[in-house]
Amino acid sequence: KLKQEGLHIVVVGHVDHGKSTVIGRLLYDTDSLPQGAVDKVKRIARETGKPFEYAYLLDAFEEEQKQGITIDTTQIQFATKKREYVIIDAPGHKEFLKNMISGAANANAALLIVDAKQGVQEQSKRHGYMLSLLGIEKVYVVVNKMDLVDYSEEVFHKVADDMKEFLEPLGVKPLRYLPVSGYQGDNIATKSVNMPWYDGPVLLDSLDLLEASKEILDKDLRLPIQDVFKFDDRRIIAGRIEAGKLAVGDEIAIYPSGRRTVIQSIAYWQERDKKERALAGESTGIIVRDEFFNQRGEIITTPGAKAPHVSNRLRASIFWMGRNPLRKGSTYKLKLATQEVEAEVADIVKTIDAANLDSREGAKELRLNDVAEVILSLKEVIAFDVFQEHQATGRFVLVDGYDVAGGGIVVAAEKADEGAG
Ligand code: GDP
Repeated sequence: KLKQEGLHIVVVGHVDHGKSTVIGRLLYDTDSLPQGAVDKVKRIARETGKPFEYAYLLDAFEEEQKQGITIDTTQIQFATKKREYVIIDAPGHKEFLKNMISGAANANAALLIVDAKQGVQEQSKRHGYMLSLLGIEKVYVVVNKMDLVDYSEEVFHKVADDMKEFLEPLGVKPLRYLPVSGYQGDNIATKSVNMPWYDGPVLLDSLDLLEASKEILDKDLRLPIQDVFKFDDRRIIAGRIEAGKLAVGDEIAIYPSGRRTVIQSIAYWQERDKKERALAGESTGIIVRDEFFNQRGEIITTPGAKAPHVSNRLRASIFWMGRNPLRKGSTYKLKLATQEVEAEVADIVKTIDAANLDSREGAKELRLNDVAEVILSLKEVIAFDVFQEHQATGRFVLVDGYDVAGGGIVVAAEKADEGAG
């Protein structure tokens, strides 16, 4: 049932501003709900004397999914005539930010939901900041609950302007601001008769207007090695191509060492799967001409391309969500693409308040939800990229014990520290 294709969207916004309701509406209006879900929610509402909530449809949806063990319950799908959509993570899930930051959930686009009556709140700003940190460029700001402000054009513009004022300095330029009511269904799938002053497309059509990103194919090759399998007398180097493409006969360079070789063939199980090329997004196995000792964590690229950075020191923006504070001098496990290495917090350069972007120097520790620029010193030299250039090999998580306690993006490589490694 789960289509890997399709556009992946994250829905963020302050609690109670209507994320679940808007999603419930999208599912309802696209007829994507499991059979009987609407009736069931209606019946429960009647029996408990509570009003019908579109948000409850999400629960029905998840319940259904749980019965099929193969499906990730945090992924909700719907389809329009044009394409399939995957909503990454139901709002309210604790894993939400973690998945976003760790790249487990790779979003193509985001909906930032703001309550028209409440206006822009601290959490709206924090989420806006996260979007900029994660480099999600396709953002729609959805001004929800327009029914509560009499569908006022003035209120809509005020909320939109407030949001714009905060987002633009961050480099987040929303593609569109939409006035909607998730509850009443205005401007979700059909044009609202209550807001004749809005002449843009409704939410569903806006989503359909998004182009799936092809840029990643045009980038330099990045193939982080996941595993090396010994197979008879050959070795198959396996991994997921995160950017670019490769073909049989290509010369490749493998970092951190930078050693070069040539792709002899692409592994296949059956003759009909035989191929000469593999593209970004595909998991592949390659067989190379020279077998030096390759291992998990190394990154393959092509010699003509801009190589990944190789160092044991890096500068990063991190978002801390650990139960224990992050302290200068503490060590964590850093996971970047397929690499794992011990990392020490060598310096906390500055902390940034995500709500007003004030920055402060000299902090000794980071608490839950703090954002900071730090210098990490790694136990070994690894290959990595600056996030702006390559997202998949430029972001990482910090693991404290068994928990993902922080996520980050590489801002710059620092000169390697000779003592370490
Ligand atoms: P979330 O926490 O962001 O997922 O918010 P919910 O979707 O759970 O919505 C919070 C409350 O706001 C619920 O009681 C909804 O019924 C209500 N709500 C959501 N959207 C609208 C809307 O467009 N109009 C009105 N009047 N209420 C809404």
